[in-house]
Amino acid sequence: MNTCYIPENLTEALEIRRKTHALPLAGGTDLMVQAKQGIGINPVFKSPIMIITGLDELKGIRVEDDGTLVIGALTTSAEIAADERVFYHIRTAASQMGAISLRNTATIGGNIANASPKGDLPQPLILLDATLTLASLDGEREMKVDDFITGAKKTALNDDEIIKEIRVKPVEANYLFYHKIGTRKANAISKLSLSAMANVKDGLILDFRASSGAAGDKVKRKREVEEMLIGKAVSDIPSLKDGFLTAWNGILSPHAMPTYRRESTKRMLSYFLDKISEGAELGIIS
Ligand SMILES: Cc1cc2nc3c(=O)[nH]c(=O)nc-3n(C[C@H](O)[C@H](O)[C@H](O)COP(=O)(O)OP(=O)(O)OC[C@H]3O[C@@H](n4cnc5c(N)ncnc54)[C@H](O)[C@@H]3O)c2cc1C
Repeated sequence: MNTCYIPENLTEALEIRRKTHALPLAGGTDLMVQAKQGIGINPVFKSPIMIITGLDELKGIRVEDDGTLVIGALTTSAEIAADERVFYHIRTAASQMGAISLRNTATIGGNIANASPKGDLPQPLILLDATLTLASLDGEREMKVDDFITGAKKTALNDDEIIKEIRVKPVEANYLFYHKIGTRKANAISKLSLSAMANVKDGLILDFRASSGAAGDKVKRKREVEEMLIGKAVSDIPSLKDGFLTAWNGILSPHAMPTYRRESTKRMLSYFLDKISEGAELGIIS
């Protein structure tokens, strides 16, 4: 028999979580699948669950005075995809998750806490150095999404904590790229996803970032590799490209990625860099 709690507010939820370590159930699109027993048979959860969909403290999207975007953990992919204040890479990733019915249910908090290497939202969040606010009865702590996800299906979430919200500071960039490769156009789990962004001014690359999902046990991004391009002239891209792509290849997990997938990320990055060096119009590179 399953034990299920339905708290009415965050404090009550945190009390239950401290006392019983009940698993938060948000959209249930991962948790229900994990608990399923078969058609017509009730799901069986390994531990008590706590339905958190009623917690208003975890809902909504807002922008703070300094431009920081704050997304409540219960915000669904559909809500994220529909909100033009949400930064390009996050919004685009949300808009391509699953099918419409899934996007109306799946939450950003659930996508991060599930920590699947194929989850679509951690990838752009890590690109943008997003942080999480983790709440417990002791108060709140902040942690980078990149540090929170420690491996495939592994996180730094304590058993008395709940993800309250996701915070993303604006990052200056004038070239943006996002691409997800799945087996189908819709309702496909990522075989590979790539985000990239560059900030180019007066022929200089002031910032460059790239992150790849489904490329290993967790999202792949490395500042040292990005720094190979930062501060360099756009006109130097052709001579820097091969070295950069080789270094990029080195951060992907060879065992988790067949050669064709590694080649695909390299090809996408190569395409993005070519567009910048050709002086493509600023904005989204498609
Ligand atoms: C048909 C199908 C297609 C899918 N397609 C995609 C896809 O294209 N891309 C993709 O990324 N994923 C996909 N998924 C996976 C899933 O929908 C997402 O990971 C989704 O975002 C999970 O969110 P949820 O609210 O349903 O999480 P839940 O199932 O409610 O929870 C997932 C995990 O997160 C924990 N959790 C939830 N909220 C919190 C919180 N606030 N604080 C702490 N822990 C929390 C739960 O305890 C659980 O461990 C798919 C799933 C299905 C069934």
